[in-house]
Amino acid sequence: MRRKEKRLLQAVALVLAALVLLPNVGLWALYRERQPDGTPGGSGAAVVPAAGLGSHNQQKKIFFVGDGQKLKDWHDKEAIRRDAQRVGNGEQGRPYPMTDAERVDQAYRENGFNIYVSDKISLNRSVPDIRHPNCNGKRYLETLPNTSIIIPFHNEGWSSLLRTVHSVLNRSPPELIAEIVLVDDFSDREHLKKPLEDYMALFPSVRILRTKKREGLIRTRMLGASAATGDVITFLDSHCEANVNWLPPLLDRIAQNRKTIVCPMIDVIDHDDFRYETQAGDAMRGAFDWEMYYKRIPIPPELQKADPSDPFESPVMAGGLFAVDRKWFWELGGYDPGLEIWGGEQYEISFKVWMCGGRMEDIPCSRVGHIYRKYVPYKVPAGVSLARIHNVGTGLCADTKHGALGSPLRLESCVRGRGEAAWNNMQVFTFTWREDIRPGDPQHTKKFCFDAISHTSPVTLYDCHSMKGNQLWKYRQDKTLYHPVSDSCMDCSESDHRIFMNTCNPSSLTQQWLFEHTNSTVLEKFNRD
Ligand code: UDP
Ligand code: MN
Repeated sequence: MRRKEKRLLQAVALVLAALVLLPNVGLWALYRERQPDGTPGGSGAAVVPAAGLGSHNQQKKIFFVGDGQKLKDWHDKEAIRRDAQRVGNGEQGRPYPMTDAERVDQAYRENGFNIYVSDKISLNRSVPDIRHPNCNGKRYLETLPNTSIIIPFHNEGWSSLLRTVHSVLNRSPPELIAEIVLVDDFSDREHLKKPLEDYMALFPSVRILRTKKREGLIRTRMLGASAATGDVITFLDSHCEANVNWLPPLLDRIAQNRKTIVCPMIDVIDHDDFRYETQAGDAMRGAFDWEMYYKRIPIPPELQKADPSDPFESPVMAGGLFAVDRKWFWELGGYDPGLEIWGGEQYEISFKVWMCGGRMEDIPCSRVGHIYRKYVPYKVPAGVSLARIHNVGTGLCADTKHGALGSPLRLESCVRGRGEAAWNNMQVFTFTWREDIRPGDPQHTKKFCFDAISHTSPVTLYDCHSMKGNQLWKYRQDKTLYHPVSDSCMDCSESDHRIFMNTCNPSSLTQQWLFEHTNSTVLEKFNRD
């Protein structure tokens, strides 16, 4: 080849290369999706067709990201149209008009929410699209990972469980659902046995697994996760309703960065009338206080996104609803299998994600409703110190009905079963790991503690200070509740039912107290000096 020709060829090749490769000049720019700030996964941002694509392409809605992957509008327009036309009880997430007959205690007893109302609402009911309007314009990767949906349940109501499954099937692109795994945590309600199996036989993508004993939600989720085959695992509670286009925005973030754990916005399905609405304040970050109580706190101004519908980071997740790359979940070690029944697992997984180079995000364009119960309906088996405190001498129970802060505790007749008094935590007490006694079940204790200031004073409820002292109690073998600071025991009056401190006399029946559920290990620890 002659030198002149070679030069020419080289020049042509250079120009061509520039056209193809140079950012903002070359053809590359035409196919490039605009990534706002170079952070991984900008495709969630409202996508405008890249300059120069031409109007015919705009119509076809073909979009591209940096590595040439296409974006698409995942909205199921047909389903949205169908939902919009639905009318009837609870449709469009409207409150069900309750009658007095439906307002009774019985309706709440087994589930902690009004199952009569739930039963009156269609399993396919529509929910309002309360996403930020920008969500309508968002495009996500055309090729997304698929997901196994894991739904643990323990004695869940029929219609609430089925509505969860229906809402997922109705509002998820079928190709993104690898399977729905219902994991039964040793329920004893009949409808969850054969009837559930028969029903779910109609849905090929639904599988049912069962634990061999009561495991609690953490190990139940783990069982589901270990059986999952999808690229991603998505955990939901057994009383949820997925909202419009909830899934693609979650999977898109994981596709962009597999170490991102994503949570949908959790909306409130009212436990009385099943209305569907946002949580107070809507988008907030997850946090916790010194008692390890989960808290939602406002997003600080410096972290607020220009587009409020964009994903934002959250330090800890609420717990029940999130999606995670399956392999990443196991790289993190899953959950600590020693966690019992309920609670704490959201901190464990959240801390591990952040410490292992992952991140956690809340996704405003993905919304899922959740029934926040009125009270915890299920039994917490021994293993947790949860008790009604029953006085042997009087046959009555410690009660906080008259327990305004600072006023003396009193005895009342013991409530049976899980009636209204127990739901309101008036006769249920917990021995906490701080060795104080608080009203409430272990997961929902109030921050008031049994408090006595002297060996003759009344026992009152006072703000917990967690510093032992006058809030430190020991439950002894002789059934007395011993107060080391005053070297006295809890006693009560048969005539006016007040509870007070007295010189210890283990043979006095009014100084003997019994507990409904106790765990000998916890009590032993409690009593060790
Ligand atoms: N769950 C379970 N085993 C238990 C307790 C709860 O499988 O021992 C399930 C329950 O059915 C639900 C999820 O775990 O799907 C979360 O529990 P729950 O809804 O009671 O927690 P909350 O939403 O009140 O925090
Ligand atoms: Mn729940």
